[in-house]
Amino acid sequence: MKTLHTHVLGFPRIGARRELKTALEAFWRGDTGEAELEAAGAALRARHWALQAGAGLELVTVGDFAFYDQMANHIALFGCEPARFGPDAGATPLARYFAMARGAQAACCGGHAGEHGSHALDMTKWFDTNYHYLVPEFGPDTAFTLAGERLLAEVAEAQALGHRVKASLIGPLTFLWLGTAREAGFDRLSLLEKLLPVYTALLMRLKAEGVEWVQVDEPILGLDLPQEWRNAFEIAYWLLAQSGARIMLATYFSPLEENLGLACRLPVAGLHVDGVRAAHELTSVCDWLALPKVLSVGIVDGRNIWRTDLDAAIARLAPLLDKRGELWLAPSCSLLHVPLSLADEDALDPEVRSWLAFATEKLDELATLKAALQGAHAPQLAVARAAIASRARSARVHSDAVAARVRALPDDADRRASPFAARQALQRARLRLPAYPTTTIGSFPQTAAIRAARAAFRRGALPLAQYQSAMRAEIAHAVARQEAIGLDVLVHGEAERNDMVEYFGEQLDGFVFTRHGWVQSYGSRCVKPPVLYGDVARGRAMTVAWSAHAQSLSARPVKGMLTGPVTILQWSFVRDDQPRALTALQIALAMRDEVADLQAAGIGIIQIDEPALREGLPLRRARWGEYLAWATRAFRITAGAAQDATQIHTHMCYAEFNDILPQIAALDADVITIETSRSDMALLDGFGEYRYPNEIGPGVYDIHSPAVPSTDAIERLLRKAAQVIPAANLWVNPDCGLKTRGWAETEAALVNMVAAARRLRA
Ligand code: GLN
Ligand code: ZN
Repeated sequence: MKTLHTHVLGFPRIGARRELKTALEAFWRGDTGEAELEAAGAALRARHWALQAGAGLELVTVGDFAFYDQMANHIALFGCEPARFGPDAGATPLARYFAMARGAQAACCGGHAGEHGSHALDMTKWFDTNYHYLVPEFGPDTAFTLAGERLLAEVAEAQALGHRVKASLIGPLTFLWLGTAREAGFDRLSLLEKLLPVYTALLMRLKAEGVEWVQVDEPILGLDLPQEWRNAFEIAYWLLAQSGARIMLATYFSPLEENLGLACRLPVAGLHVDGVRAAHELTSVCDWLALPKVLSVGIVDGRNIWRTDLDAAIARLAPLLDKRGELWLAPSCSLLHVPLSLADEDALDPEVRSWLAFATEKLDELATLKAALQGAHAPQLAVARAAIASRARSARVHSDAVAARVRALPDDADRRASPFAARQALQRARLRLPAYPTTTIGSFPQTAAIRAARAAFRRGALPLAQYQSAMRAEIAHAVARQEAIGLDVLVHGEAERNDMVEYFGEQLDGFVFTRHGWVQSYGSRCVKPPVLYGDVARGRAMTVAWSAHAQSLSARPVKGMLTGPVTILQWSFVRDDQPRALTALQIALAMRDEVADLQAAGIGIIQIDEPALREGLPLRRARWGEYLAWATRAFRITAGAAQDATQIHTHMCYAEFNDILPQIAALDADVITIETSRSDMALLDGFGEYRYPNEIGPGVYDIHSPAVPSTDAIERLLRKAAQVIPAANLWVNPDCGLKTRGWAETEAALVNMVAAARRLRA
């Protein structure tokens, strides 16, 4: 009989009811102590290992659990915390760990961490996921020791529960690659020599403790790597092999391409590859990976929530199994990026639900695949087959009207009627704004009263009419305050929006929402992405009534406020039965209708937010062009409904655009607002050098802090901006929306902002 094993690279840790979040937040508030938090962690691990074992996995995965983040766990494991998190940062290892994640306040003055305490490590996105990791800081003095006992303790914990263990580690090269150099010019790779002996010692310890396999993740093998980094793999893994541990080298998120031969050559016992995103490489890997090395195929999508087409998977796996005699089957990557279980999704439409597989259901898929490939009875295969067939032909997925509209789309649908200069003249004549016009990014404080009204409405405790009049009152309040502050272009304040994607998804065809489909974003923070399952269409106007109400209350222009197609796509679980580009186009057409309706209702300025545009960039540079082409086109199609005299704004929550400035310019938004205050306007330089043609609102204060910026500080930033961008093209606005702020600081900051703009006009 052929040998098949199933395993996972990692499992969600937040818990079916976000128990980890509850436990963490209680601990941080000081309501519970370390013992309670540790107990909550142990209970979650035990439960998740039991799920794995219950699904027939011979080895449970240990080391994927973290109280905050797996990179932070490795920093603690290797004792390479930056000096500011030394023993003073907290009495216990756990306190120091949370200090890295959240900053530590100096006991003396209770000020903001960062000013008086130790500021937290930076956080950034884990490859192209929505998960954020804590970025290790490296310098010439960084030292590594086997400092953390947590991993070994968790191994013992799993073994005590009767499990056989595969430990999981982030590989040494990925760990160094993902860190940041404390001083410019420092080469992180130079630390490898110091790091490897610690890895080797750890691998030996794990082996001595009876750990049968160690999964070592090196997802950077799917990136464009400098030659020195590629070379380093050979020597590093040759050294790690001396530990005698059986290493399963894990790659995911991206094809290996030029690193395929390297990955297959490394002296490890097994190689895991992403069988979803790099399915086309499976045959080559199978040929290149010499026996008796084990091939682990990530055949179940770890990045999405759809059921696997098991027949297709079997067809793909069978020849590999024939050739090798042994295969391991797994999800493509850690299941951290999908929700835990469908079990409690009782409110979900049953037909759509039958098409889905969350982490727990993916474990079952592995079991079914294994049985089917071994020729055993696999009753679930028929169920899966029926679900795949129902999804493929469901009228709820495929709309003829949407398809016809896409087919009939004119070539110039993504172009405004006239070039920017002509539009600018028309818009200026229409809007009659002063120089340095002031505005905000859209949201005003989401007060407790607003949230309570929305919650009551959702519960059914507040009738629609009352909810609407409450929101209309909030909008009136926001408009009145903006007029009093003296802003030039007003917003309605987004009181009625729970979330900038969910709000639209709930009103568009093609989306469903889960009740418990939480995915960890960082620490205790989770997001519940909408599920985009079908052709997208807009039934009726989604924002016009709110915007028109706001506009009726003021003689000043009120900006309409929309979320762009790329951001809606990027922040949802997206269907996998058609290219993302087509789904983006469908969303763009729906949002285009909203632009047209806002315009028809007399709204002269419409903002289309695209904060997620940059994060959609593929991991491999060679594929950026293709992505940017369809992503920017989707934006332009949305904006394309605007007449010349309608001013289109866009907003992005960052300004690191140097490598994609031509494409940002190609969006052809009349105005772009970006986040620049924390870089002291430095991020604007690229726009200046590129001679960015349209108008720009570089953020003049940081909305992440309640601190009120002074008029002088804002004036200084504006003068800096005016050195780089022609003054006639400059807008004055905060970095981002104000929904997380309170009214008091918001009002004070905006009053100063308006005063600074007036000084520049004078
Ligand atoms: N209009 C949104 C707001 O102000 C934009 C948020 C965002 O860019 N993430 O809240
Ligand atoms: Zn923003």
